[in-house]
Amino acid sequence: MPETPMIEVAHVRKSFGTVSVLKDISLSVPKGGVLSLIGPSGSGKSTLLRCLNLLTIPDEGTIRIGTHAMRFGRDPQGKDHRMPRDKDLAAFRATVGMVFQNFNLFPHMSVIRNVMEGPVTVLGKGRDETRELALRLLDKVGLREKAEVSPDRLSGGQKQRVAIARALAMKPEVMLFDEATSALDPELVGEVLQVVRQLASEGMTMVLVTHEIAFARDVADTCVFMRDGFVVEEGPARQVIEDPREAATKAFLSHFH
Ligand code: ADP
Ligand code: MG
Repeated sequence: MPETPMIEVAHVRKSFGTVSVLKDISLSVPKGGVLSLIGPSGSGKSTLLRCLNLLTIPDEGTIRIGTHAMRFGRDPQGKDHRMPRDKDLAAFRATVGMVFQNFNLFPHMSVIRNVMEGPVTVLGKGRDETRELALRLLDKVGLREKAEVSPDRLSGGQKQRVAIARALAMKPEVMLFDEATSALDPELVGEVLQVVRQLASEGMTMVLVTHEIAFARDVADTCVFMRDGFVVEEGPARQVIEDPREAATKAFLSHFH
């Protein structure tokens, strides 16, 4: 029997005011799987990622990450599911690491303090053990020698690698990347993709929103093409990107050739 997926999204809907941004989204990612999410600007990719760690609360549907499941909207009897409690939200979010386009490092803290902040303040871990963990993670992303410097001394690629180390410090079960290389100069993209590639080979479950189409094809197992809040096409990454079935997917991908 196939293993229960690590990420399961069922019938998720989200509107902002009268604008319906996610329309009945369902998808799943097996443990250790990598899903790439592509689509035009405004198609709802960031909103979907934000729903996956409940930075945005869906109006309806179910989201499960590992053992944490949440239902939103009304049940079949028409009764509203209650808004999740802060404690449950925090536990859910702690299982999901997220890396954004613009790094979002704490500018007034050294690199290592950035990596230590979550485990110490959110998880209540001791400083000594967390420092050890942070040094190991900085080593993993090739930045151990930058531990004591300020983020403003780093290149964009280095900042993004610190952001990845910071997310990993929470020992997430899932990592989400929202256009993590879009703000980088082209020569710095590779060093960040290399870290993501390494995480994939270590079995991290990931969702990658990316415009790096070759990367989406090579590193991801599955590719989802979204447009206007719908999943238009989903399939093996190589097939969706090299031989898309849907006209809308073809049209979108033609911009990258
Ligand atoms: P993508 O990441 O694919 O570019 P987004 O998820 O950022 O798409 O946005 C999808 C749509 O939702 C856009 O029309 C955007 O303007 C709208 N949107 C996103 N976040 C908000 C928000 N907080 N309030 C209102 N509209 C939003
Ligand atoms: Mg976006």
